[in-house]
Amino acid sequence: MPEERDPHHHHACHYDGARYDDLNHRKYPQEADVVIVGAGTAGGIMAYELAKVGLRVVVIEAGPFWNPQSDFASDELTMKHLGWQDTRLVDGQNPLKLGKNNSGRGVGGGSVHWTGVYLPFHESDFRMKTVEGVGADWPFGYDELAPFYRYIEKEIAVSGPKKFPWGTFNGPFPYPEREPISANAEMFRIGCERLGIRSVVTPLAINSAPFDGRPPCINRGFCNEGCMPNAKYSSLVHHVPKAIGYGAEFLTDCMVTQVELDERGRAKSVIFTHEGVEYRQRGRVIVLASFAIETPRLLLNSKTTGHPDGLCNSSGTVGKYLMPHSSHDVYARFEQEIRLYKGTPVMATTQDFYETQLDRGFIRGYTLHAHGARPVAMSTGLARDAGVWGRRLRESMLDFNHYGRLTMVGEVLPDENNRVTLAEEVDEYGMPMAHVTFSYGENDLKLIDHAVEQMKSILKAAGGEPEFVVSDTAHLMGGTRMGADPEDSVVNGWCQAHDVPNLFICSAAVFPTSGSGNPTATVMALAARTSKHMIEELKKQTI
Ligand SMILES: Cc1cc2nc3c(=O)[nH]c(=O)nc-3n(C[C@H](O)[C@H](O)[C@H](O)COP(=O)(O)OP(=O)(O)OC[C@H]3O[C@@H](n4cnc5c(N)ncnc54)[C@H](O)[C@@H]3O)c2cc1C
Ligand code: SF4
Repeated sequence: MPEERDPHHHHACHYDGARYDDLNHRKYPQEADVVIVGAGTAGGIMAYELAKVGLRVVVIEAGPFWNPQSDFASDELTMKHLGWQDTRLVDGQNPLKLGKNNSGRGVGGGSVHWTGVYLPFHESDFRMKTVEGVGADWPFGYDELAPFYRYIEKEIAVSGPKKFPWGTFNGPFPYPEREPISANAEMFRIGCERLGIRSVVTPLAINSAPFDGRPPCINRGFCNEGCMPNAKYSSLVHHVPKAIGYGAEFLTDCMVTQVELDERGRAKSVIFTHEGVEYRQRGRVIVLASFAIETPRLLLNSKTTGHPDGLCNSSGTVGKYLMPHSSHDVYARFEQEIRLYKGTPVMATTQDFYETQLDRGFIRGYTLHAHGARPVAMSTGLARDAGVWGRRLRESMLDFNHYGRLTMVGEVLPDENNRVTLAEEVDEYGMPMAHVTFSYGENDLKLIDHAVEQMKSILKAAGGEPEFVVSDTAHLMGGTRMGADPEDSVVNGWCQAHDVPNLFICSAAVFPTSGSGNPTATVMALAARTSKHMIEELKKQTI
């Protein structure tokens, strides 16, 4: 082990005390205070918050411990493995494409290759059932999360505009907005201005100036390939090294396959597999921070005689109400060069279409972004999702530098038929594979149509000729939703399982609704809030 910590080497074994080479000699062989499954966005934040107050924390992560300098490459194809690649079975009227576009695997989870767009939800997102009469209310309102949004913004130095015109938080963000913005973002802002649509430079969890030993962004545009310079926030480069500094242990390449209960019905341990060998880790409290599909799969696979339909599933809700965001892209050709590959992909945004406007014929809304793309992403999207082949595809790609692109982040309403179940087929760990069923509802489809028309109008107003619409989905949420009523939800407002008091679920899996904007600011705020609550309850010995 190196004698001094090198902030650029994040492999766990490079840190003193972080991990022993052999899994039979772990840091907390008897029992940890908290065992966290998944070292993604939520898992990394919770590990940091809990280890900081002296709790003995073990995080168990299915994927590897990435080293940005040696494991990341400025290469779209090579970096596909940052997503969850294991086979899942998909069906429904709109089977989800699952992979790098909507998942993460390895320390940092989705935060390693996310785009860094940081948008708190609006008040209305938490009260959909009350206001719209459909979907679900969250068990708390925006005000409850507000201090935690503000805490995270400072903690990771979110850059953004001084004035943000939508939602309840109107700025300023802690770090100055990005400057200069990409040509694609300029184009979007010009189009919006000509149509009277308000737009801003996007709030980003990407350094606009040096922060915490990490440099500002150099605008090379490989954020979705994992940021090599470490300018973009990920839990891998921020929360995880700090958590390790406070004593947390990270066990990587370890797939958790089951949660075990004791005779009183409390969570006792998790079973995990590393290189074909099974291990057990006990904890006073178990946290599942394993995201939207793997969390329900793990609970369904942990059924016992007392829990025949899966753990925490007395409501029958585990696996249900899975939501992606609709995420169609519209490409337009411009006379002048735009060069979509340049810079952070998203640098301009409007939320003018976020809230319900009944005259549009659907409820809820969407966020629009200028959205850069690299050539492989563009050509794959055109070929696979827009039906553009052969000569047309070749000619379009030869003109790559002349295309601009916008994207939507559209709310998808919760529907219990959109769900994760266990397939007959088993994977390499002997676990039944996830079977994921998804169909858009009528409201979702109307909303997509509206957003696509709006994007075309903006592109036209900016001087472009809209040519291709690429259908896509992004951002998974739900599957173990939170709610006040144990009859129709899996966890309460503290992310604590209704059925098993010392089992917490903290990730995008607990979202009861998807919101009309990017979700991860809310994942982060929830993780900070859950940690605070857990620390208080552990002190009082009530969990
Ligand atoms: C390409 C891309 C771009 C995105 N851009 C944005 C953006 O700009 N803004 C935004 O708000 N959101 C964005 N997102 C979404 C964001 O990444 C997720 O919302 C966020 O990472 C969810 O955090 P989480 O903690 O719930 O899950 P994750 O970060 O996915 O973490 C879950 C972790 O659990 C691990 N795991 C799962 N099952 C097991 C198991 N059984 N045993 C052990 N470990 C397990 C996984 O390997 C993973 O590391 C983007 C996502 C992608 C894929
Ligand atoms: S554009 Fe900025 S945030 Fe993205 S990979 Fe490059 S340095 Fe990192």
